[in-house]
Amino acid sequence: MTVPLMTLPRRLLEGYEEFRSGRLLAEQGRYRELAERGQSPEIMIIGCCDSRVSPEVIFDARPGELFVVRNVANLVPPYAPDDAYHGVSAALEFAVGVLQIKHIVVLGHGQCGGVRAFAEGATPVSPSDFIGKWMSLLAPAAAKLGPRNEQSPAEYLRRLEQASIVNALDNLLTFPRLRKLIEAGKVTRHGAYFAVATGELSVLDSQSGRFAPVAAAARAHEKRSRL
Ligand SMILES: [Zn+2]
Repeated sequence: MTVPLMTLPRRLLEGYEEFRSGRLLAEQGRYRELAERGQSPEIMIIGCCDSRVSPEVIFDARPGELFVVRNVANLVPPYAPDDAYHGVSAALEFAVGVLQIKHIVVLGHGQCGGVRAFAEGATPVSPSDFIGKWMSLLAPAAAKLGPRNEQSPAEYLRRLEQASIVNALDNLLTFPRLRKLIEAGKVTRHGAYFAVATGELSVLDSQSGRFAPVAAAARAHEKRSRL
């Protein structure tokens, strides 16, 4: 029996119509140029699949500006050249080797379902479930964080979401070619955290190891560069 494919859901057709008569009209020239010249984004974002955390929306990006890879809980697996299929690693290889990206941003967020599933030790839906194995990438971040002790569940999850971003940034260094570029200052790593409820964006300060709202982080950077 053949399984029929349906047309797009109404919401997408309506959204496309809106895009075609609005943004596409306004940016037609840019799309044409990008089609002829190819893309050359300078920024790669590694984000979560979560429907509330769209990098293009949060950063008000235009076509061609962001090279985005999204996966459950915005994780970066360590370099592992084996026979398995590695989507994130392939995207990194393309970003670094072909596009010569200059910045890699790991964008985490609040209320991440993947992080919560790991923290709550939810049992996989089935033995062949992929999520359990994928989320085990969070284990090093959880180990570094230590026991929950008196922390509220919300506080612990926020800390784990942020520790996971740091771990993902560390894992980028396991890719030999990328590591060389980072050490040579040709590629810069960044950690960011989007609080869904307030829309506040925080960035990881490499000196303090803490996440601070972008406005405060910019002030601290300015102060440091004046010293
Ligand atoms: Zn998430």
